[in-house]
Amino acid sequence: MSARITKFVNVILPIAVPNTYTYRVPNEWNKEIEVGKRVIVQFGKKRLYSAIISTIHEVAPSAYQAKYLEAILDDVPIVTQNQLALWSWISSYYMCTIGEVMNAALPAGLKLVSQTKVMLSGEEYDIETLSDKEYLITEALQIQHVLEINDIEKILDIKTVYPVIKSLREKGIILLAEQVKEGYKPKKLPFISLAPAIRNDDAIREAFNQLERAPKQLNALMLFLQEVKDDFSLEIKKAKLAKKDKSFSTAVPQLIKKGIFIEEKKEVNRLGTYDKELISLYDLSEQQQYAYDKVKTGFAANKPVLLHGVTGSGKTEIYVKLIQEVIDGGEKVLYLLPEIALTTQIINRLRQFFGDKVGVYHSRFNTNERIELWQDLLKEEGKYKIIIGARSSIFLPLTNLGLIIIDEEHDSSFKQYDPAPRYHARDTMIYWSGKLGAKVLMGSATPAVETYFNAKQEKYHLVSLTKRYGGSKLPEILCSDLQEAQKRKKMKSHFSEYLMEHIEGYLENKEQLILFQNRRGYNPLWSCEDCGWTPQCKNCDVSMTYHKHIHVLKCHYCGHSHKPQPKCQACGSAKIKMVGFGTEKIEEELGQFFPKANIKRMDLDTTRAKNSYQQIIDDFQDGEIDILVGTQMVTKGLDFDNVGLVSVLSADSLLNFPDFRSFERSFQVLTQVSGRAGRKEKRGKVIIQTYSPNHWVIQKVIQNDYEGLFKQELIERRNFKYPPFYRLIKITIKHRDRENSMQGAKELVRQLKSKLGGRVLGPQAPYVSRVKNRYIHEIIIKF
Ligand code: ADP
Ligand code: ZN
Ligand code: ZN
Repeated sequence: MSARITKFVNVILPIAVPNTYTYRVPNEWNKEIEVGKRVIVQFGKKRLYSAIISTIHEVAPSAYQAKYLEAILDDVPIVTQNQLALWSWISSYYMCTIGEVMNAALPAGLKLVSQTKVMLSGEEYDIETLSDKEYLITEALQIQHVLEINDIEKILDIKTVYPVIKSLREKGIILLAEQVKEGYKPKKLPFISLAPAIRNDDAIREAFNQLERAPKQLNALMLFLQEVKDDFSLEIKKAKLAKKDKSFSTAVPQLIKKGIFIEEKKEVNRLGTYDKELISLYDLSEQQQYAYDKVKTGFAANKPVLLHGVTGSGKTEIYVKLIQEVIDGGEKVLYLLPEIALTTQIINRLRQFFGDKVGVYHSRFNTNERIELWQDLLKEEGKYKIIIGARSSIFLPLTNLGLIIIDEEHDSSFKQYDPAPRYHARDTMIYWSGKLGAKVLMGSATPAVETYFNAKQEKYHLVSLTKRYGGSKLPEILCSDLQEAQKRKKMKSHFSEYLMEHIEGYLENKEQLILFQNRRGYNPLWSCEDCGWTPQCKNCDVSMTYHKHIHVLKCHYCGHSHKPQPKCQACGSAKIKMVGFGTEKIEEELGQFFPKANIKRMDLDTTRAKNSYQQIIDDFQDGEIDILVGTQMVTKGLDFDNVGLVSVLSADSLLNFPDFRSFERSFQVLTQVSGRAGRKEKRGKVIIQTYSPNHWVIQKVIQNDYEGLFKQELIERRNFKYPPFYRLIKITIKHRDRENSMQGAKELVRQLKSKLGGRVLGPQAPYVSRVKNRYIHEIIIKF
């Protein structure tokens, strides 16, 4: 018999401590411990955490007495060695603790903490099968309904309650709080059908006679019959019919009264399982086939590939074909998308080809669904072969991965700014793809300057699609000169006469419109006409934004709000005027100018509720909205059939944003938002309102000249020492006391300069220099 070995494990704690921490393994668990399993440990005074085993060894720590592990939570590892290696790389490259990476990486339900709430699942269970401890907990839950882990510790009077909780959970008797967050809310829409008594030719003839004197109702009935042809039992979406004839909806109530129609709300499938017949892939056009072949050439040369294709060029169909090949070869695909573009549009598009093989990983999904996907991916033979996800899906257990698609690769939401890890999902995956053995395909109509530069340098393989699929034309882009319009008094509030005439025309033509405005809220500023005073946030150095529907001033940085003062707080004048304009104000004004139009707004304020974003998109798709007013959200990845006109209400606020990427971003946003116009048979139109129609960036947008934008940008970036020629590190110093913040920053600069010299810039107070009562200073290192 061999001597007993004392084992130790190093664990990653979900908190910002620099090192992993060592614990001692009780002998009887020696066989159970495995890298990647979760354990419960005590850290600090009394706190319990769930941590992850990162290494197993036999070395006792020298600086402290190792505590014993409290419990092992998993039967099989929930994190692979490869994931742990990625965490460790991210923590070193993006300079944060590995615990912070772990926090970002694990979905909430896998992070058990002391405050986790426990409740009964409602499933039946047999008391005979429960242990004494288990029985005590279920009994307590019958009375109290919800218990925290801490409560349970008290009830059982022991500290290691996790094994009991784990076993109750496995038996399906209890639920943990993170698991029962808001469930899936089905979407319901009104459908119209014939009343059962009317579903025959005679009855319909009778109905026609009855409606002789009601031409609108007669019309509505005819419209319905045209739609269903000979099948009188069909139910048709009301919105679909209303889209064909505006007066349809108004005729419906009368027809219901007369016993001809019935209207019913019915559930429409949003995600769920895909029960429709799968369709086979489209044949690629000649242009697409050529691009597809070139993508493969890039893969063969082991390079990341950039697919640069104008909006509507059919990039997605190329992805689809590549995905098919990868899964036919038995490997999986990760499909990264910007957060907001994760609409059912793209999900459904892939599902119609690949059905239930498509899994989605998204912060708006409840953790149950997320954990399900996570665990499926850990299986040898999982169900999901294609994972669509936002930036955090790079943290999934990606095994057997053949291809990573990064769609809209230029999008800034691939970068996490706050909190740490401040990682870039695109860059991380390009680096990490080698370790995963996967190919990388990036797609964009407006690539990031850095990406295009890499492609030009042949670090990436470049493939271009210059024409739209099916020969439809890129939209015609026109400028409306605001300075000129103002001079000639041809402005109606924020709309030039030129734009107004267009809006009217398109509305009459029943084509839909999208109006894009960079800012949300009603009216960014209240300002005193006499002295120029504007109300400021008491916690941040920014002006308060006015939100009309709730009549409050609100800070967009910290959320502080209060009722607007009727008088100037500086000079007492009552002449307070409003300057600037946001989406809410536009929505309201449009409503006055075009009272008959159905106008909807899409911005952070109107899409906070879980399904509201999708609702607005569906309503727009169904033709229930005539004009969609929106922020950045309307620019991303949406594909509508009937948008005749897109207008950018003020290009200037984009161009003037203080950031070295603002021209690049302006070009991207203006081009992307323009890409929403037209699409199918008809050429769309875009009107950009601006004070500087001759600005070179706007000219490049009009000429659809990405190459030109890139060349000019590159000159500026070289001259002013920015990426891709230099790398930047930004250090942010925050303190409640302005002087402390500045002194600290200055001292840090002094020390950095002694090592790095002139590459250290600052300290500087940023554009908004106080947020949530903390004074901010920034230091930039360029190297
Ligand atoms: P992109 O992603 O480049 O903006 P899409 O992939 O959305 O372009 O393609 C634009 C439209 O053309 C879509 O409606 C798509 O279904 C259609 N399309 C693209 N390629 C094909 C093809 N090979 N066969 C049929 N339809 C296609
Ligand atoms: Zn004043
Ligand atoms: Zn504030």
